[in-house]
Amino acid sequence: MTDASKNQHGDDHHGGCLCGAVRYRLRGALKFAGHCHCRSCQRAVGAGFTTWAGVEKENFEVTKGRIKICETSPGVERGFCDICGTSLTYVSEKGWPGVVSVLAPTLDDPGFAEPTAHVYVEHRLPWVKLDDGLPTFERF
Ligand SMILES: [Zn+2]
Ligand SMILES: [Zn+2]
Repeated sequence: MTDASKNQHGDDHHGGCLCGAVRYRLRGALKFAGHCHCRSCQRAVGAGFTTWAGVEKENFEVTKGRIKICETSPGVERGFCDICGTSLTYVSEKGWPGVVSVLAPTLDDPGFAEPTAHVYVEHRLPWVKLDDGLPTFERF
């Protein structure tokens, strides 16, 4: 957690979708940043794995446009831009109460959201090789 928290001194961080229709702002410290290898994320985003940064719900704000929400499994809401299709957010009140996670690469300055772990590596794709030294978890 050191790097992610070290770079967080309450600064605002902005982000948005590829077409620019949706913009959002994060406030305060990240709750976490990490890579997820679960099949749901792979399919939802169309990537080998996903990288998330989470903040308290009150520290997340849509500043332009609107995020379209799809309940992709019971209690799990994934948000995206319904113009360009960029995946943006993940909310699970059961799994992560009070937290909004954003896909870190949609931040304007994604480098600050340094991941601290790989989760759901039981679903890791065989052509994804991990050698960054971060801890890995079969599930969460
Ligand atoms: Zn868009
Ligand atoms: Zn996932």
